[in-house]
Formats: sequence, structure tokens, C-alpha cells
Amino acid sequence: MEETTHLALPLKYRPMTFSDVVGQENVVKTLRNAIEYNRIANAYLFIGSRGIGKTTLSRIFAKALNCRHEGDSGSIEPCGKCVNCHEIAAGRSLDVIELDAASHNKVEDVRPIIEAVQFQPVTSKYKIFIIDECHMLSAAAWNALLKTLEEPPPYVKFVFATTEGDKVLATIVSRCQRFDLRRIQTNDIVSRLKYICGKENIDADEDALLAIARGAEGGMRDALSSLDQLVSFKGTKILEEDALSVFGLVSRSALENLASAIINGESAKILDAIELFDSSGKNLRRLAAELLNHFRNLVVAQALGTDAKALEATQEQMAVLAEQAKNINSERLFRICDQLVELEDKLRYVLSVRTVLEMSLIRAGRIATTATIEEIMKAVRALKESGDVNALKEVYLNPRPAPESTNIARPSTTIAPQTQNLPPEPRELPEAKQEVKHINPTTRRQMLDDELVNSIISSTPGSQLVDIKEASK
Ligand SMILES: [Zn+2]
Repeated sequence: MEETTHLALPLKYRPMTFSDVVGQENVVKTLRNAIEYNRIANAYLFIGSRGIGKTTLSRIFAKALNCRHEGDSGSIEPCGKCVNCHEIAAGRSLDVIELDAASHNKVEDVRPIIEAVQFQPVTSKYKIFIIDECHMLSAAAWNALLKTLEEPPPYVKFVFATTEGDKVLATIVSRCQRFDLRRIQTNDIVSRLKYICGKENIDADEDALLAIARGAEGGMRDALSSLDQLVSFKGTKILEEDALSVFGLVSRSALENLASAIINGESAKILDAIELFDSSGKNLRRLAAELLNHFRNLVVAQALGTDAKALEATQEQMAVLAEQAKNINSERLFRICDQLVELEDKLRYVLSVRTVLEMSLIRAGRIATTATIEEIMKAVRALKESGDVNALKEVYLNPRPAPESTNIARPSTTIAPQTQNLPPEPRELPEAKQEVKHINPTTRRQMLDDELVNSIISSTPGSQLVDIKEASK
């Protein structure tokens, strides 16, 4: 019968027992122990992004609690054969009641639960209420539930699941055993996909599976849906290009080249790459997310080395990461990451994704190649120590274009327009005020705070900080 009807892969390979669950070892272990030692809490709260197994885990837990264990009475795993297991799996059990709070969030919707709590389970040990997307419940609905949650009859158990743990009221969270489900590692998804491909006679190359796993962002359900979609589209032979083109992903090497263009501040290369991705229909929002992940990996590689466990990367990726990590200092790397985080956030709301992406990445490229205040300080110190202007040339001082407002017709008065709004300069530095008027206010303020710079300025009447930039040209 199974051969005649096509069952979608996410359904067909939905985990049925604790040992089927991938990537949530700690949660599974705690739940199994709770059953084994009969220390079952009144309420559980599963928090995690979509498709990582909250509902699946809730059902397995409900089955394990109510299973009659036909055949193996000592097992904690649900047997999958008894009436209770069958009914729960089919959503027909009278003792396991599911509520989707996304569509049923009012007081009237939870009232049947409060009433049902009064009655003993019909055929099982426990009466279990699974409330999905529980953060959507109205405050009134929660209040109605609260009394029951505080002192439920011993046969009643609650399982709440949500994608947004922060939105669940603290009074509720404190009455639950809370589990934060982690996103499933790319490698775990790849090996599960490999297993399923073997079972389904799908011939997929490993890079294709990697691309699917990347696209699923830690969600097993999404990964399986994607594989399903790909098989419908391409048949049972799947290559990396297929996966990339169907899901609008950029190939690993193209992504690495773009990162390298950013690190080298090569605006033309950045624009060319975006043009190519856009015209070949790549998902630019996804590109921004993957780029952030790449730079995050660079931070990890720099801090911990490329053999770090926190690095989710293949051998080829690691070689590139090691090379790129050598070519950029950590301060700039952090600033690029900040820029990319900001970009990801912005892209959620804008329509002109490409333009925002272009501007943002060019800016990231500038960040990668513009001197930081620390480097300027270092240069100044080098100058102080050696008395040699050439020492400054060791430090790369890419002259940052002056902000537009100061660029346009700089007034001939001694004070630049924006500085008029600034609090008065420290009194002991009257001469400094005269000397550094061309440097943008933030930088200048930081410089004036530096004791060393102050001493240089005050002890060398003829010197101008602006000259540092001139000297480096
Ligand atoms: Zn059973």
C-alpha cells in the first residue's frame, strides 16, 4: 500500500521514537530519564525555531507516557504497536489533546481544556494537552489556564511548544520544565539525508546534500521538504548545481570569492558578483545570511583555529577560512560582522534588496581597509618613538572620504559646522582646538582623550594631526 501512494519525505521519515530524533540529545536524555525514574513534571515547554522537532518530540513524549509497551514492557521508547501509540500518531487519542494556539488563542478555545482536565483519562495513564505555538495565546486565555497549571490533577500533563520563548509569560515559564531545542548541525542533517537517500534509492552527490542542509538552516523538516522538491524536479539523480539553482543558493566557492573581495575592499568585484547572483536568480537575502555565517566562521577560525569544534565547515572550507583569517585583523573583522548583522536586519523590510546589499557590502569592504582609531594611535606612538614620519607608512591609512556635510564648502571660520553643537572642549587644551579642526568630531574627540596625543599636540606647536594623513600618501 505504501508503494502506491506517495508519502512526502518529512512525513515518511518523521521520528517515531526518541532514538530517531536527530540533534537534540540532551533534551531526549532528560525526557527519557524523567520517564525511567518516574519524575514527570506537570508541564513542559519546548522552545526552538520551526522544523527542528518540537511537535514531533511532544508526540513521542506523549506516546512514551501512555504507551502500553506491547512486547517489551521494560522499554521507555513508545512501542508504536499498541492502541495508544496508533491513536496518538493518528491524532485520534481521547487522552492526548492538541491545540494549535496560532489559530485558537481565545479564552473560549482553552475552556474545553479546563473542563476536560476534570475527567480521568479514558484508556491511558495520563491526559496530555499539547499546545503548539503557545506564545499566541491571549493573556486572558493564559489567565484562565493558570489555575489549572498551578495544581493540575496528577493524571494531567501539559506540553507547550513555541518558536518564540521570549513571548511566553514568565509566570508560565516558571511553572514548566523548559527545553531550548538547538538548531540541528549541518553535518547531522547531511548524514540523515544520506541515510534517507540510501533508503529511497536517490543518487545525490555530497555537495548537493550539503547545499540542501545549508538551505534548511538547522531545520530537518525543511531539509526533507527540499529533498522531496528536488526529486520531483530532477528525478533521482541530484547534483550540487541542481540544489543550488532550485533553492537560489550561491555556490560555496562564489561565496568565498565575495568574502575575499570584501576583505580586500574591492568594490568593483563586489558589484560584479552581486550583479551575477541577481541576474541568475539567487536569493540575495539568503546570500547576506550566508555571508554573515562565513565571517562568523572567520572570527572563530581566528580566535580558536580552524580545527575548532564550533566551526561547521568541510575540509575545503577550512583551508579557505585559514587563508582569509590571516589577511584581516580581528578588530576589522568584528566591524564587518556588525555591518552584516545590520544588513540582515535591514533586508527584512526593504524592497530594493539588491541596492541595499550593494551599498552595505561596499561599506563592509571600506571597513575592511580603513584605518581604525587604534591603528592611528599606534602610528602616532610610532612617530613619537622614532621621530620618523615614514614610520606612519607602515600602518595602512586609507584616507576616509570626509563626511559630505564637511566636504561641501568647508567654511573658512575656525570651527566646522557640526562642532558648534558639541559640548565645550576641555579647558586645558585651547591650542589643540585650533590644530585639529579638519578631523571628524568623533575621531577628534577620541584623539583628544588620548593622553599621548595631547602631549604631542601641546609639546609641538607647529604640528597638525591632519598631517598624519598627508604623510601617509
Ligand atoms: Zn505503544
